[in-house]
Amino acid sequence: MKLRTFKGGIHPPDNKHWTSHKAIEDCPLPDELVVPLSQHIGAPSVACVEVGQHVAKGQEIGSAKGFVSVPVHASTSGEVVAIENRPHPFGTPLPAVVIKPDGEDSWSSNLQFTDPGSLTSDELIEKVRQAGVVGMGGAAFPAHVKMSPPPEKPIHTLLFNGVECEPYLTSDHRMMLEESERVLQGVALLQYVYGAERVVIGIEANKPDAIALLKKQCADAAVEILPLQVKYPQGAEKQLIFAATGREVPSGGLPMDVGVAVHNVSTAAAVTDAVMLGRPLIERVCTVTGPAIKEPKNLRIRIGMSLSHLVEVCGGLVEEPGKIILGGPMMGFTQVGLDVPVIRGSSGLLLLREEDIANSPEGPCIRCARCVQACPMNLMPTTIAAYARRDLVEETEEYCAMDCIECGSCSYVCPASIPLVQLIRHGKAAVLAKKRNALL
Ligand code: SF4
Ligand code: SF4
Repeated sequence: MKLRTFKGGIHPPDNKHWTSHKAIEDCPLPDELVVPLSQHIGAPSVACVEVGQHVAKGQEIGSAKGFVSVPVHASTSGEVVAIENRPHPFGTPLPAVVIKPDGEDSWSSNLQFTDPGSLTSDELIEKVRQAGVVGMGGAAFPAHVKMSPPPEKPIHTLLFNGVECEPYLTSDHRMMLEESERVLQGVALLQYVYGAERVVIGIEANKPDAIALLKKQCADAAVEILPLQVKYPQGAEKQLIFAATGREVPSGGLPMDVGVAVHNVSTAAAVTDAVMLGRPLIERVCTVTGPAIKEPKNLRIRIGMSLSHLVEVCGGLVEEPGKIILGGPMMGFTQVGLDVPVIRGSSGLLLLREEDIANSPEGPCIRCARCVQACPMNLMPTTIAAYARRDLVEETEEYCAMDCIECGSCSYVCPASIPLVQLIRHGKAAVLAKKRNALL
């Protein structure tokens, strides 16, 4: 049977064999947790505790600031020892609440079990907001905002992303295999909120065990398990929507413009915890992997653990890493060191050796059009990059730079090693700056 997919895309080696067979392990608590107040798209939260205060696990330590924002919670019980700027995965030091664990790991007594049948849709969304649930595929967009589309944009298809197309990462795969009940409870809760007629879980065909398990568990439910062709970036929102529904999200539009809402499978599990147990998002599964790490693992980590702690729990380094990436190799964030904490969107930590990194010098464009064929957004990467390089902002925008999803497929296939995605990212920033200036 021909599997569904999207136009364009690439086939990088998936390198999932390092961890795809490894069961999730609980990562032991470190001596210190650094919980950043900025972990999501939107306004950062604001500290609501004081230095010296004892906090319980799951207690709110940072309050949301506005609708597109979420609160932040203590990942364990202990003492707040500092509220200060600390190294952050986004690159610059940002405010964080530093907790010294007391070893009790005791939950706040305010968190209670709720029968979801007693909740209205709005009450359920509020519980998700209070729990600080964000998209766990990496984007970290507040889930309650996505769950509140305007009435004129009804959602007929609810799509769950179990694709995990980024090479090396296996955290969603293990979640679907080991915690399918939590995932499917979240699927049902989100279906109730949206009232969608069609519910689909999209999974790449390289996870046949997860596909078989979920098919069996959903045999009596109105949930469709959709195997998809193995191709990067199959898990990108617009590409997943096209593969599952045949609909194209218009340029500059959102999934709700075509009646679709998309959530990651791990986000669905976090929704279950938030609604049924009242538990906030203080932990997640993170794949720690790559040739520079001794024992690659899928770890259940607490938000605020340092990358160096994760490395230690995985047996240490084989050699000094040539590159440290939080997330996958295609869309993850390169880190300068291991002293940053994991945040809610941290699906993986990839440690590569010097020899694993392609370092060929940049050459001239040979007009091979490989980047055009690979682009899943039907863009002309070579043209946009050339305009962006020369800071020709109008032309950069005219060639639809803002539609670029920064998947890196064009850079991956370019035989001339032109840093296309970096140039396009630079061009997009210039377009945004121009728009902001026009508003002043
Ligand atoms: S990074 Fe942008 S331009 Fe390059 S292939 Fe992806 S969507 Fe297309
Ligand atoms: S892939 Fe590279 S060399 Fe080929 S057309 Fe695109 S930018 Fe030029």
